[in-house]
Amino acid sequence: MTLTGQSLVAGQWIGDSANGEFNAFSPARNEPLPTRFFNLSSAELDNAIDAAHSAFVEYRKTSFAQRADFLTSIADHILALGDELLEQTHQETNLPMMRLQGERMRTVNQLKAFAGALRENPESPLGLKVVDEADATRAPLPKPHTELNYLPLGPVAVFGASNFPYAFSTLGGDTAAALAAGCPVIVKNHTAHPGTGELMARAALAAIKECAMPLGVFAMVQSKSYDTSHQLVAASAIKAVGFTGSFNVASKLQATIAKREEPIPFYGELGSINPQVIMPNKAIQHGKEIAQSLCQSLLMGNGQFCTSPGLWLIPTGCDELEAQIINSIESAPSDTLLTPGIVKTFKQQITERSELCNVELLGKGQLKQDFHANAHVFACNVDEYLATPALHEEVFGPAALVVRYDSEQQLMAVIAQLQGQLTASVHGTPEDFLKVEHIIEELQYKVGRLIENQMPTGVEVCGSMNHGGPFPSSTDVRSTSVGTNAMLRFVRPICYQA
Ligand code: NAP
Repeated sequence: MTLTGQSLVAGQWIGDSANGEFNAFSPARNEPLPTRFFNLSSAELDNAIDAAHSAFVEYRKTSFAQRADFLTSIADHILALGDELLEQTHQETNLPMMRLQGERMRTVNQLKAFAGALRENPESPLGLKVVDEADATRAPLPKPHTELNYLPLGPVAVFGASNFPYAFSTLGGDTAAALAAGCPVIVKNHTAHPGTGELMARAALAAIKECAMPLGVFAMVQSKSYDTSHQLVAASAIKAVGFTGSFNVASKLQATIAKREEPIPFYGELGSINPQVIMPNKAIQHGKEIAQSLCQSLLMGNGQFCTSPGLWLIPTGCDELEAQIINSIESAPSDTLLTPGIVKTFKQQITERSELCNVELLGKGQLKQDFHANAHVFACNVDEYLATPALHEEVFGPAALVVRYDSEQQLMAVIAQLQGQLTASVHGTPEDFLKVEHIIEELQYKVGRLIENQMPTGVEVCGSMNHGGPFPSSTDVRSTSVGTNAMLRFVRPICYQA
């Protein structure tokens, strides 16, 4: 099937070169792909927003069973895209086929999980309705009958991430949650995988038609112009924003939202350095294994996971552990990153770290092609770390920092200074775990997920998962986009009294 390069607005494919165009990029070949994608004009974006606004009046009246059928139909149409979808995404991201197959299944299952939650609770989102019966005999005043239920907020803008082209993108968790809640969605497609976004939008359109949903219930916007994103979040008809990406871009969109007359929720799930605390006995008794696991986790997806372990807190003097880190990293071949922009930022950050005088380069991987990113592990002591804010930032790509601590006091000083994180892990022997109470007490207030003796990469999608974390790892610490609870982000309470 040939790609149009256009956006989906109110059921129509719209867009031509009049407003500028861009190409997708092949990370593997380091060159643009042939298909042209067209920036949606400001007037056409207004049409998408108007259509979403009109669709809301109809869509919000659909029963939960109808919405469940719609989400299931989207899931089925994603699968019906078959290998064409996987091949397109592979070209645009160079993510391995197996990874893409798994992520596609996760995305399909996410949609079906929301459908299941709607079918199980046909009266209120997740069965949260509360009823207080009237009591006419109560003195001194009779008690009214009151019912608490939830209404959808209205059209939602969704921004996906480059590194999860399915699960956190066009038809990913935020879109599924908003549609389940009864909200139309306008997705600003990620420019790192525009063809994937178009194919996904085709699946959504097929489901809209199959389920006789209003055409404006889902729109997909292609644009390389940042103005498009800012126009979308500024529009008065948009009532919430779901965003997965960097702190930097989230802050810019939030600044635009702050200028709106009506404030709206902005749910940003952002980056993190995911500290790994290696306790003394673990480091001495299992140094080699823990070093291998840290390196494997770092190298997964060439470091392009929001849960990638970026900060390794290791006792000073663990020679075997450090030797194994060097060994594993130096034998790791380089690989591509998702976009030339991500490669550029990665290389800049690596150069900046290399130039810091009290930070040493412990080891680096082999660079096979100059447009690749090779793994880098740096090391410093606690004082240097605490004094250097640049070392506290996420490096998106295969880079980590070892911070050597001399004492428990030093370890606690680093933990106390940590910013909010998506995750942190504590690695210890049973003996170590007899002494970690105060570390856990402090660490749990810094993270959204606290992990014992496991690596942070790999997010289990289940009811008990939390993928958000304190600011700046996410912008709303009280909720997460992973799991069916995410539906509650896009509803508001209403009390009916009689
Ligand atoms: P990004 O750097 O935030 O980019 C997101 C999009 O914003 C890109 O399309 C970019 O366009 C656009 N953009 C750049 N500057 C902008 C501006 N001034 N105004 C409006 N839009 C602008 O993120 P990414 O590359 O997709 O993903 C990497 C980040 O996402 C990492 O920090 C990673 O940790 C995080 N992430 C978090 C999670 C999570 O669940 N917490 C999941 C996945 C990823 P251009 O590409 O054209 O520059």
